[in-house]
Amino acid sequence: MFPTENATLLVATGNAHKTGEIRSLLQAHFATFEDLRDHPGLPEPEETGLTFEENAIIKALSASVALPGAIVLADDSGIEVDALGGAPGVRSARYSGPGATDATNRAKLLADLEVLGLREAAPLARFRCVLAVARGGMILATFDGAIEGTLRASEGGDGGFGYDPLFQPEGCLVTFGEMPSDEKHALSHRGRALGKFKAWLENPPGAV
Ligand code: IMP
Repeated sequence: MFPTENATLLVATGNAHKTGEIRSLLQAHFATFEDLRDHPGLPEPEETGLTFEENAIIKALSASVALPGAIVLADDSGIEVDALGGAPGVRSARYSGPGATDATNRAKLLADLEVLGLREAAPLARFRCVLAVARGGMILATFDGAIEGTLRASEGGDGGFGYDPLFQPEGCLVTFGEMPSDEKHALSHRGRALGKFKAWLENPPGAV
């Protein structure tokens, strides 16, 4: 599969925000990008894993088995709040139940913290991301990334997606929702995992 500069990367997600972030960070490494919206026949598998890594592997293998010639990248990610025992964690996308949206998930997170009397307490949280790369129905590698921070008592900014308006990275005075996207990418869990993927692409396994 190397070099990849003239190749297409299939991002195994239907989440346009994720594909957009991955495209902007990998544009020097692939010629074109697709995601599951370009392949409506491909099912989105059930995320039955208990860890981000298990779910990233489930998503990468599902797309790779269906399209064995494609270079597939799957991202599983979410936010962990210490005071909630690590929730929402792998359930971040569906935290508020059936029909969950980013807005209802953020509202549930704030409501849960309110019940515990911790909404104003800048509770500790982190975003995590695991990427899985597959081709020909096989996982070639996985990469992880994390960013520590705290939660705001109310939403700040409308940039990014998901829990971005609530998450203030350690050492910053603004949330991910309030910063330009290139600043988010330089710090974020996804940016860090993609940095490891880029290093792997630049020094392919087996290269001397
Ligand atoms: P997944 O599609 O099952 O990996 O779920 C990812 C969910 O985690 C998203 O729907 C968001 O709620 C949350 N999430 C992951 N990455 C980010 C991010 O960079 N910013 C904000 N929320 C994120």
